[in-house]
Amino acid sequence: MPLSPGTPASPATEAVLKESYERILRRNPGEPEFHQAVREVLEALAPVLDRRPELLDAKIVDRITEPERQIIFRVPWQDDKGEIHVNRGFRVEFNGVLGPYKGGLRFHPTVNLGIVKFLGFEQIFKNALTGLNIGGGKGGSDFDPHGRSDAEVMRFCQSFMTELHRHLGEHTDVPAGDIGVGGREIGYLFGQYRRLANRWEAGVLTGKGLAWGGSAGRTEATGYGSVLFTAEMLKLRGEDLEGQQAVVSGSGNVAIYTVEKAQALGANVVTVSDSGGYVVDEKGIDLDLLKEVKEVRRLRVSDYAERRGPSARYVPGGSVWDVPADIAFPSATENELDAAAAATLIRNGVKAVSEGANMPTTPDAVHLFQEAGVSFGPGKAANAGGVATSGLEMAQNAGRAIWSFEQVEAELTRIMKAVHDECYETAERYGAPGDYVKGANIAGFERVSDAILAQGLI
Ligand code: GLU
Repeated sequence: MPLSPGTPASPATEAVLKESYERILRRNPGEPEFHQAVREVLEALAPVLDRRPELLDAKIVDRITEPERQIIFRVPWQDDKGEIHVNRGFRVEFNGVLGPYKGGLRFHPTVNLGIVKFLGFEQIFKNALTGLNIGGGKGGSDFDPHGRSDAEVMRFCQSFMTELHRHLGEHTDVPAGDIGVGGREIGYLFGQYRRLANRWEAGVLTGKGLAWGGSAGRTEATGYGSVLFTAEMLKLRGEDLEGQQAVVSGSGNVAIYTVEKAQALGANVVTVSDSGGYVVDEKGIDLDLLKEVKEVRRLRVSDYAERRGPSARYVPGGSVWDVPADIAFPSATENELDAAAAATLIRNGVKAVSEGANMPTTPDAVHLFQEAGVSFGPGKAANAGGVATSGLEMAQNAGRAIWSFEQVEAELTRIMKAVHDECYETAERYGAPGDYVKGANIAGFERVSDAILAQGLI
């Protein structure tokens, strides 16, 4: 498979891309998600590198695919029974040319270095697209918070931060949440950072509580942003969300606020899911009940179905993508929507897909959507609203300011439109009209590359 499908590169560019990619595979063995994320970016770059040979000469591809710093550490902690556990912690500070390393922490048993690198790599380009001064990074641990008491989660977070704090700072590296890390965990992490650093340094973490430096709207931002991005894609098709049937996967923070915003704009959202199965609710998802089950009680979507009554059906182990929809919002995790699922959605008439999660769609599924003329919003553009609002939280912290929800939402709306337009226009400029994947990757890459060139051999 050439690294420049669709837009064949000059033989020289193709050879450089191939050589770089092979070296990346060799130097990063056993990291398939990282390889997948890199490949997607490289596949978009041929026309840029053909037009701008100075980027080839400066070896930008090799420099951008090698993290600036990778930190791996031991996280020992004690459970409520006194038993000792040892987890592994990670922080990959991938690229800092545009600002402090910025990206979430993921606590999930599947976390390993390759996962953190894929997420950190995506974050570089996503953060660049927001137009804010934030670099790319990501971190996490293979710790599983499910079934753990608050006290256990607190002790884990304190141990995790006891090592991580020396690498952080409001101008250095600013983590936030991701899967398994929400307001509760950010609170425990912030408390431990403050004790160790003896600084009330609000800008060192984002996603904080509103009373202690958090931003209104940060909780809602990723899901809201994904829907706003979709609204922009639909506008170009002469449509909006009113009356559209939507399927959402996942039931975490991104999924919940995708449901909220999509409903507010008139869509009928009929599903949510978790690792056990999905719920299809003919009357549309009851948002208050979903929040009660997930945010307050930390239960499963099967519990939602049980409490909801006859309109909702729980399908254990099934694929949410079997449910017919005009719009699909994959908002759970990587590679959750494969080619078979894409074919089903296309057969059922899907018009738009917006990646609320990071890399939830497999490459062959993306290809099928694009060939079928489905408007496809890649995660690094469609879910950029979360990290963009983290950037707004940092701005408020730096100015000791507190913005209203309305101010934040207005700014988020402006940013999502700007991200959409930049991806769309860049794709047009490089001969791939309507291809948001190429547009996002090229626009993000150019912004980061220009900063690297300007800052010298770094
Ligand atoms: N984890 C989120 C993402 O994937 C947000 C990161 C942040 O706010 O720093 O973009």
